[in-house]
Amino acid sequence: MAQNLPSASGFLAEIRQDDGRPIDPVFASRTARAAFRERTADQSLCGVLLHSGAPDAALAHTQGSTLVLAGELYNQEDLLRLLPGHTLPSSDAALVLALFGLYDVHAFRLLNGRFAALLAAPGRAVLATDHAGSLPLHVSAAPGRVLTATEAKALRTAPEGRSLAARPVRRLPGVHQVPAGTVLDIEVATGNCGTHRTWSPPQARRIVPEEEAAGTVRRALELAVRSRTSGDTPLVVLSGGIDSSSVAALAARRSATPIDTVSMGTEEADEFPQARVVARHLGSAHQEIVIPTAELLRRLPHTVWAAECLDPDVIEYLLPLTALYLRLPGTGRRILTGYGADIPLGGMHREDRLPELDTAVCRDMDTFDGLNEMSPVLSGIAGHWSTHPYWDRDVLDVLVSLEAGLKRRYGQDKWVLRAAMGDILPREVVVRPKLGVHEGSGTTSSFTRLLTDAGVPHDRVHQAKSLVVAELFDRVVVGGRHPDEVATDAVVELVATRLLSGVRPVPQ
Ligand code: ATP
Ligand code: MG
Repeated sequence: MAQNLPSASGFLAEIRQDDGRPIDPVFASRTARAAFRERTADQSLCGVLLHSGAPDAALAHTQGSTLVLAGELYNQEDLLRLLPGHTLPSSDAALVLALFGLYDVHAFRLLNGRFAALLAAPGRAVLATDHAGSLPLHVSAAPGRVLTATEAKALRTAPEGRSLAARPVRRLPGVHQVPAGTVLDIEVATGNCGTHRTWSPPQARRIVPEEEAAGTVRRALELAVRSRTSGDTPLVVLSGGIDSSSVAALAARRSATPIDTVSMGTEEADEFPQARVVARHLGSAHQEIVIPTAELLRRLPHTVWAAECLDPDVIEYLLPLTALYLRLPGTGRRILTGYGADIPLGGMHREDRLPELDTAVCRDMDTFDGLNEMSPVLSGIAGHWSTHPYWDRDVLDVLVSLEAGLKRRYGQDKWVLRAAMGDILPREVVVRPKLGVHEGSGTTSSFTRLLTDAGVPHDRVHQAKSLVVAELFDRVVVGGRHPDEVATDAVVELVATRLLSGVRPVPQ
């Protein structure tokens, strides 16, 4: 199995002070599974790890405490300086546990990573997400037991938990999602829960000369790509837009051999010529994959299954990538994407007014949590591991905090990124205006057509898309059905019929 992947990409774990039967979880991730079970004086810990060949490395132990870690860290070198003797623990899990010994819950403020963690200590369950909640974590807690899992559907048969100060998951009573950048510290005997924020989006804006801003962005992005590419040849999902082209260019500079790049398109739309320019410039081993529109739309249930997301716009961004991941040859690839740059840079904002741009950045940074846009399950359903350099904690801090005039400048969106990458990409790539993945692949238009063909009027298409996504969520996440058994067409028909007959849509 690939060493190149984190030891575990997900887990279910149960801490119990009673003798209840462990639950039999379902996951969307297509990864090897290993069960674990431990007993201490007053509680038991058991669960399942989704692993890449070395499950033991996802667990670390010390004096009655066990740390379970899914995902990976990107700032081990800095973290190591905090440990006595500066000796590198054998795994990221052991490193986090050692830091917990020194800092308790505050250890999670130190980590730059893509992870979800559980620390099972005597009488205590500590649950933590990374700054971006990029590896979703869910919890169901009641006096005497805490159940936690990286996919909400893994908890669908859990006994009902008590209410917590976290977002409830639709139609899974007692199941909550741990917020991004948060530690929940739960007392197992009572289910009482304390909350600690470990990260929030910067609110202040930095005024920096153009060159300095571009240099800072370049250095932060270089480090983020470096910490994500220390293994096999990386694979970059490439559109030829500035975001993914920058990641590909920085990955190529680090690699002794040509990197791999892949672009998807449908028979309706693609960005193949633009991606080819970048691939040729970098000398990457490049593939183009055409996904018929009918196949793309058949992957809607798989996308909802993987992302566990109810937002139809986000599902449209994720659908083409999910369809692409399912078509990639081989398994166990480390995939780098250019996803997420538009959120801190206001890239979707298509006019020059700076107050509106910063309003969009603030709104998007306030509302990303729970959308699961960067969930590793999206590529995990095809056995891969994805990672997103623009949502590296240090890159994100830099990008969010630049003043809006550096983001939109000289009539260009994402100006500071373009300035940062100007010397290593062809000019036509550097100045290419943003085109969203949902637009460049024809995803939005083909989903819209599916609905209008079913009789949905144009002014109700967005509402219908929300209802389709909610219905899919209820079937594949809440109902536990496999997405191969759920036909997009049939769900669209049902939603259209309900809308047109005036049946009150099911509340969101
Ligand atoms: P820009 O935002 O300037 O268009 P971009 O195309 O790289 O740059 P998005 O459009 O936001 O970024 O798309 C998000 C990410 O999804 C990309 O960075 C890329 O990694 C991936 N992606 C988008 N379109 C494709 C595609 N057609 N084939 C492969 N990957 C793609
Ligand atoms: Mg694009």
